[in-house]
Amino acid sequence: MRTLVLAATLVAAAHVSLAQTKALRFGAVVEGTGRVVANGVIIVDGDKITRVAGPRDPLPAGATVIDLTRYTAIPGMIDAHTHMTYAWDPASGTDPWRQPQRAPAEVSRLQRLNALHTLETGVTTVRDLGASNYVDVAMRDSINAGAYPGPRMFVAGSGLQRARPPFRAGQDTTRTARGRVYNISQIPEAVKQQVDNGADYIKMYGSSGSGADVTGNETFSYEEMKAAVDAAKALGKRIAIHSYGPVGGRDAVRAGATTVEHPIDLDDATLAEMARRGIIYVPTVDHNRYYSEYKADFRYTDQQAAALDSFRLLNLETTRRANKAGVKIGMGSDAVFHMFGQNTRELAWFVKAGMTPAQALATATTIGAEILGAEKTLGRIAPGYFADIVAVQGDPLANIDVVINGVKWVMKGGTVVVDKR
Ligand SMILES: [Zn+2]
Repeated sequence: MRTLVLAATLVAAAHVSLAQTKALRFGAVVEGTGRVVANGVIIVDGDKITRVAGPRDPLPAGATVIDLTRYTAIPGMIDAHTHMTYAWDPASGTDPWRQPQRAPAEVSRLQRLNALHTLETGVTTVRDLGASNYVDVAMRDSINAGAYPGPRMFVAGSGLQRARPPFRAGQDTTRTARGRVYNISQIPEAVKQQVDNGADYIKMYGSSGSGADVTGNETFSYEEMKAAVDAAKALGKRIAIHSYGPVGGRDAVRAGATTVEHPIDLDDATLAEMARRGIIYVPTVDHNRYYSEYKADFRYTDQQAAALDSFRLLNLETTRRANKAGVKIGMGSDAVFHMFGQNTRELAWFVKAGMTPAQALATATTIGAEILGAEKTLGRIAPGYFADIVAVQGDPLANIDVVINGVKWVMKGGTVVVDKR
């Protein structure tokens, strides 16, 4: 009896492992290391890649063969700056920033759509930089548990921001809550609260600037940024510091942030320091194109749209200078609301800033993985890496538009999550 049960279990296990082995035949495989394998076959076992075989290599017995020979494989991409919980239904006709109270089920439905639209762009991993009430933690855990399809999420909880007067009567300013910090002594506790609540990453808002506001005035000093960096590192976490302006950007670099988000007009010395220390610039050029293009939805004036456009040009110019100075650049969309589905349009700006399509693709693959400290599991098509694979139509190394608009099929962790063939 015992032997019988054991035998049955073994048969079942063997069956599962056979069913889980897939051979993906592509026209070409861009491995994300500079190597391109013509007619490559990616062997996937469970959620991982086991190898990239040549077209005439023998396939594992019983492998399920998927014919993608009309397409080129690229690694699943990483969007290093999202806000997946920012949900809005364009059909509601409401102002996205001032929405009336909605049913939790409706908000959740829209957040799932954000996740799905992100997968459809070939993004299989995001770093989500700021959410309320740890909904980002819940989304990450739900996606990991298979409750609904979405990218793997690395989340930050509440971004640290300076609490500003006027304070409510009776407001307790002696301790930090929801990421709001009243003075430097509270910064370590604010960092710890995010980690205790499940954050993978720390986010600090080091300047003004959001939506139509492109002011970029520093809100945390160098000393305060350094306190946040030290607290994050003491807990084994990385930290992204937001600054629209160059002063906050410079102080974030001096303080040793892992990545610096958005800034324009970084001076040459700061760019040189970033290159030397390996501090990664996430420019998020395209999100101001988005705000300007959808100004009617946001109720922005023509003057506000013009300010967004001016900021975007300075952002592009800073990206060009950073790239020339040898600074590592990451692709972050800063997507909110109905920008999900446009996550990778940032790559077109990177090519305009002087990158080759291969360099632009690296910002969303190998450099994205470096931002997350996941260089050994994400951002490449190679043995031992997660089977995050995107099929695009055309040559992504000749034309970046192939990556942006040519996504036909997406696998995440060995499961097909998008199929538009
Ligand atoms: Zn953001």
